[in-house]
Amino acid sequence: MGHADRHLSPSSVPASDAPYWDAALETQSRANWDALKLDLLQRHLRHAYAGSPYYRAAWDAAGVHPDQVKSLDDIRRFPFITKQTLRERQLAAPPFGDLVAVPERDIVYISASSGSTGIPTASPFTARDFDDWMDYEARQFWSSGLRPEDRYCHSLNFSLFVGGPCVLGAQKLGALSIHAGTVPSERLLTIARQFQATAIWTTPSYAWYLGETAKKEGIDPKKDLAIKRIFVAGEPGGSIPETRNRIEELWGASVYDYYGLSDIFGSCAGMCEEKHGLHWAEDHILAEVLDPETGEPVAEGERGELVLTTLKKSARPMVRFRSGDIVSFTSEPCACGRTSQRLLGVHGRLDDMLIIKGVNLFPSDVEAVARKDHDLTGEYKLVVERIDHLDHLTVEVERAASYKGSDTNLAERFAKHLKSVTGVLPAVTILPPDTLPRATHKAKRVEDRRSGVWA
Ligand SMILES: [Zn+2]
Repeated sequence: MGHADRHLSPSSVPASDAPYWDAALETQSRANWDALKLDLLQRHLRHAYAGSPYYRAAWDAAGVHPDQVKSLDDIRRFPFITKQTLRERQLAAPPFGDLVAVPERDIVYISASSGSTGIPTASPFTARDFDDWMDYEARQFWSSGLRPEDRYCHSLNFSLFVGGPCVLGAQKLGALSIHAGTVPSERLLTIARQFQATAIWTTPSYAWYLGETAKKEGIDPKKDLAIKRIFVAGEPGGSIPETRNRIEELWGASVYDYYGLSDIFGSCAGMCEEKHGLHWAEDHILAEVLDPETGEPVAEGERGELVLTTLKKSARPMVRFRSGDIVSFTSEPCACGRTSQRLLGVHGRLDDMLIIKGVNLFPSDVEAVARKDHDLTGEYKLVVERIDHLDHLTVEVERAASYKGSDTNLAERFAKHLKSVTGVLPAVTILPPDTLPRATHKAKRVEDRRSGVWA
């Protein structure tokens, strides 16, 4: 049975010991994936050209047409769009912009994201888009081991946030779904304890914070709570093994990294039980990985900017959207039997990338080093300054309460380790435990004091 034939009836849910949600789709050959994607791409581009005034004008101006697409590589003829495009077109053709390719009567849901300018840009869905999305979320949850027997506690924001409805994917899968939303930590712990939730979704920072909060309140996350699976997204931490291991130790649970894009789906990729990369929503989104300077594709496995093209989402097609995320991919088959491309890591945002004395540095690289050393708490902060026209990086870390040695030794060890991993030798400040602010949402880990450079 194809994914498109699946209906919202309980009979469509596989038996709990079935390894795949949609075996035929998920284990097909790479050649079949490419054929499927090309077929979807050709249809989707024709739909965009016919329905969206923006795409028709932009492609006419660029001298390209959907009929020219004979292979997946032909997508490279088409012009990029950016977050700025979405904002401008929404202002030019309110309220949803002219990238929209369907009549408004067909739109049933919008999510929105505000970004740095504060103008919320809307991401519309038709009923079919929404069903496709939830089928994908169910498939992804299934790959991470969620089953109808689970009690899934969804603690993401529902207010216009594209992560909110993902709970319906868990519900479609048959899990008992608890729509908790963003509530204070004490309340969330009470809900999780009262209903003995077995799975939860949050950010890596918050998973850690919540576990520490539980312990402070006399709740042992391993014994008093039943959480066995933690889905995380929104920060690179879930793909950093050191961070994942420490959250897993704290909770006695398994952590799965998920990746979402506010302008497309709440999650577009997620880890299977193998946890080697995130299986990509390959039948929904065509991914290119490009050198951000030249726009040329990088070799498989190399880092580059993720550029996305939707393949089905009909309300507002996204064609060659520059995500600003620096990622790497593999198309090697996974040990789980799934054949979809895997996102090997989201190394950071282009916006987050620091250039220290000519070396590219992502905060996630620092995090991996900080979390590996158990004489540190794992919390960290980067302070970048410009002194005498040179960039100086200071990394602030906290010594663990159990560490009894000298701060100087600890700082030297950390600086050397970081230098060997990143090529940057920072100044290191060792702070007492519990000095740095604990994140309750996405952590602010970088303080850039170089005036005007990255503002
Ligand atoms: Zn896998």
